Amino acid sequence: MRCNQDTSGNHSPLLRYHYTSTPIDTCRKGVHLTTHVVLYSGGLDSTIVLDMVRRTLARMGDEVVPVYFDLRQPYSEAEIRRLDPSIQIDDRISWLGEADETSPIPIVSLRNIFMVLLCATMGNKVYFGQLHPLSESTSDGDQLFLSLMSLLLQKVASDPRHGLAYPEVFTPLSEYSKPQAVRRYLASGGRPEALLSSFSCFQPLDDTPCGECNACVNRYVALKLNSLPPGTEYIVNPESTQYYDFEFKRQATTL
Ligand SMILES: [Zn+2]
Repeated sequence: MRCNQDTSGNHSPLLRYHYTSTPIDTCRKGVHLTTHVVLYSGGLDSTIVLDMVRRTLARMGDEVVPVYFDLRQPYSEAEIRRLDPSIQIDDRISWLGEADETSPIPIVSLRNIFMVLLCATMGNKVYFGQLHPLSESTSDGDQLFLSLMSLLLQKVASDPRHGLAYPEVFTPLSEYSKPQAVRRYLASGGRPEALLSSFSCFQPLDDTPCGECNACVNRYVALKLNSLPPGTEYIVNPESTQYYDFEFKRQATTL
């Protein structure tokens, strides 16, 4: 958490704060105990993480800041159109690069590193929606990545001149598969409507998800296994796609 917010009117988040020689004393006078920054895409997983942080992880008086990073992907505009006003849109890493089109799941390389570092300039607890490694295997979201990022940030924060208050990076869904995350969300009193209005598709046609991509089928199956409808029309019925049967069996075994 940074303190001593500059009221000069400069709206660049990186420049909005300046060093104070007494950051802890200044923080005590601040409004918020802790600032929780949630990487939010509008998809199922980040919808659940944001709900967890708002309802259970943040304490009274804490600030919760959901941030959408605009990576200027083919699906970004459709995602942005669905964001509610509480979501902060950040386009500072829109230059990061194209996703690898040969990959079945397009990934903008290094995005998680940049997103976590930028989030750490906005608050001291950073969250993103990584699932269990057996459900979602990535090299930039697993426990080693979290530990290394937290350690790097805490190394920098060990010098009080940086004004950083013990930065930490969390993935609250890392113990769960996607349908398990949905089930626990519902069991804890989460609103089904929020899940039905989530959006996740790599190749939507305007605002209509394709129904065929990895993101569409994964989302559809996780909702179906929890007896929820998809909450959207699709260009192609996900159940008619080649990937559906495999994904249904794969997720069903984890529920
Ligand atoms: Zn799709």
